[in-house]
Amino acid sequence: MTRQSTKMSSKFKVRAYCSSRQCDYVHPDDVIQAINSETSYALAQLYNESSSKPSCPKCGEAMAFYSHSVIEEPWLP
Ligand SMILES: [Zn+2]
Repeated sequence: MTRQSTKMSSKFKVRAYCSSRQCDYVHPDDVIQAINSETSYALAQLYNESSSKPSCPKCGEAMAFYSHSVIEEPWLP
């Protein structure tokens, strides 16, 4: 099966979540936008290894960073 190569613009972002399971806080803003998935993953790891992690404004637990991608598929031909 061949995939039609359409102009898809993907956005790779790093977001901050509360690391506590009892808390559902997610930082409303993206931490950073990366150029590709590898970069966003590496940046998320870098932030997670940082000693100066921000704490959750809701419960005070440390924040955790995750990379995620947003694929914006054009729905018009
Ligand atoms: Zn929290």
